[in-house]
Amino acid sequence: MNFVKPKKRLGQHFLTDQNIAFKIVESLGSDVSDVLEIGPGTGMLTQYLLKRPEINLHVIEIDRDSVAYLNENFQELKHIWLEDFLKADIAGKFNGDFSIIGNFPYNISSQIFFKVLEMRNRVPEVVGMIQKEVAERIAGKHGKKTYGILSVLLQTFYDIEYLFTVHEHVFDPPPKVKSAVIRFRRNSRTELPCDEKFFIKVVKTAFNQRRKMMRNSLKTVCENLPARFAEKRPEQLSVEDFIELCSAIEELKKM
Ligand code: SAH
Repeated sequence: MNFVKPKKRLGQHFLTDQNIAFKIVESLGSDVSDVLEIGPGTGMLTQYLLKRPEINLHVIEIDRDSVAYLNENFQELKHIWLEDFLKADIAGKFNGDFSIIGNFPYNISSQIFFKVLEMRNRVPEVVGMIQKEVAERIAGKHGKKTYGILSVLLQTFYDIEYLFTVHEHVFDPPPKVKSAVIRFRRNSRTELPCDEKFFIKVVKTAFNQRRKMMRNSLKTVCENLPARFAEKRPEQLSVEDFIELCSAIEELKKM
């Protein structure tokens, strides 16, 4: 077999441009060793990852046909897992830190990022191709319309760079949307001064009614929001503001 028919339900859009594949692989920092590629498909990125001698490559792919293709065509690829990234015990497969790369299946990119967040202390770097709009949202700073839940949660623990835009016509089949490559690098923040679950809840609750002032959208969380936040909308708050807000609410609750 030398051809995998793309399956829509698995978000399969195979990249066809060698230069772009090379550029994505080169975007991964030079101080990496264990690397996990999510969704290698027929190995467009894999071929270049295997050429970097410092990389110990592992790939995880849900599609049986793609895995058969990889086994046949990439004998040097030693660690191939036929598994669902979202369900697999990823951190348990590595002894130390590991970086992540992939042309991600767009239908599950947010879920991939939530899982990365859970593993963040083991994942120093992520390079991924995703839908352009999602990339803009994730990389967006406060004050922008695109700033939202994932922007705040990811930017809390990662520095995020929008690297470049990729057009539809370099995929088979072409997706309906434009794509972009982004890079996350773990920042120096270790623990939050407030409870993390509470922080996530506050961010999600505020953005679920993003047009409302926070004294209204956060009523169920806190009756009397500290004055400096009460009349703000969530997109006006930086990551630091959200952390400060949560710490302030926790202090109020202790009184
Ligand atoms: N990297 C390839 C394919 C990108 S398409 C290329 O650039 O051409 C996305 C890939 O992710 C597909 O191969 C698809 O089968 C795989 N995939 C989809 N859902 C997945 C999941 N939950 N876990 C692992 N791989 C998945």
